[in-house]
Amino acid sequence: MMNGLEGRKIWICSLGCRSNHYDGEALANAFADAGAELVKSPEECDGAVLVSCTVTAMADKKCRQAVRRVRRLSRNALVAVCGCWAQKISREEAASLGISVVVGNRRKGELPALLAAALGGESPSFAEDRIDVLRSREWDDLALTRPLLHTRAFVKIQDGCNHFCSYCAIPYVRGFPVSRDPGDVLAEIERIAASGCPEVVLTGVHLGLYGKYGSVSLAELVRRIAAVEGIRRIRFGSLEPFGLDDELLETLAAAPRFCRHLHLPLQSGSGSVLGRMKRGYGPEEFLALAEKARSFLGDDLHISTDVLVGFPGETDGDFADTLSLMNECRFGKVHVFPFSPREGTEAWSYPDRVPRETVLRRTREALSAADDLLVRYASRWVGADVAVLAEETAGNSFQGLTPSFLRVVAGGRAERGEEVQVKITRISGDSLRGKRTP
Ligand code: SF4
Repeated sequence: MMNGLEGRKIWICSLGCRSNHYDGEALANAFADAGAELVKSPEECDGAVLVSCTVTAMADKKCRQAVRRVRRLSRNALVAVCGCWAQKISREEAASLGISVVVGNRRKGELPALLAAALGGESPSFAEDRIDVLRSREWDDLALTRPLLHTRAFVKIQDGCNHFCSYCAIPYVRGFPVSRDPGDVLAEIERIAASGCPEVVLTGVHLGLYGKYGSVSLAELVRRIAAVEGIRRIRFGSLEPFGLDDELLETLAAAPRFCRHLHLPLQSGSGSVLGRMKRGYGPEEFLALAEKARSFLGDDLHISTDVLVGFPGETDGDFADTLSLMNECRFGKVHVFPFSPREGTEAWSYPDRVPRETVLRRTREALSAADDLLVRYASRWVGADVAVLAEETAGNSFQGLTPSFLRVVAGGRAERGEEVQVKITRISGDSLRGKRTP
């Protein structure tokens, strides 16, 4: 056991992406392995850990708010921050917020020992472990050692990005692309399967780079995971479109356990905006890729996406191109984000920032188009029998996800983690309704 953590009350809060939530859960496992008691709220905790995010200005604000909240609710608790926001904040800002431990990316495995030392009063009042992530080839030394009773587990297999899209701050804080050792990935997935969890979601900052900077390809990793007994569903988190090659599509098509859902971020439907974003593809290429994915994985494939609205210089015509490409690509779920300038990125200094009111108007229009697209995609399932993996049950009803990542609320009984057939009868908001078939 790690000296200094036995019996200590630790509260962990993860903000941002799925990789952060994975890191938060793995840290929880590390603290539990060291004898700490994990608590559900920051009041009365001895130590609070924030797995932080810096993807937008709003994310930075939420990190500061989370730290202030802990300081208010638990005056004696020591606060440790790690992850993307922690990678870039100054010592002065950390001190002014009352943070005791700052741990950057690639070093999160060190956090429990640093917090233990700070709690024991053995270290100076401020402990820091940050490295130059742009040069590092290290993997954050974290793992799910005791998977919780989930029906769906996130497994981080990749970190970092060197694509440097002009608007994105992530490569500067997540660092150079690294791939997790395939043996470690499989060992973790075997532990997850042994815990009874039937579904894994492979996550990373830029999943498509798995293998490019590692020993096996993403396709080969999927083949190996598909052979793990007990895993009934495999999904990807977000996959950059330029990471989807023919070998991967062939492998996914041959793996029935791979769920027919891909999240491919489009960002814009305008060729000139995509060029300034430095995305590396044009609208026609993206559309062709979406159609190719359907030709491999079937026309029922759910392709969801992200769209960034109000990029500098985006005209009404550019925005109309985005709405039109959203339609042509026949997306299901579309996540819409207003552009948030990030200092240090190339787009920070781009001229012609779009006025705030215009960004908000376009965001509303894109959200309305997104609602229509989701209904259009979901309606193809009305009248069909679909497999639903029950995640929550209450009396004579349950809810869960279809392989194509649509939420279903259904009448009938099901055990948590059980996959049952449901006859879909209608759409309600962004979910499907139906009844379990005998
Ligand atoms: S591919 Fe682009 S958007 Fe995605 S993390 Fe890398 S730089 Fe950011």
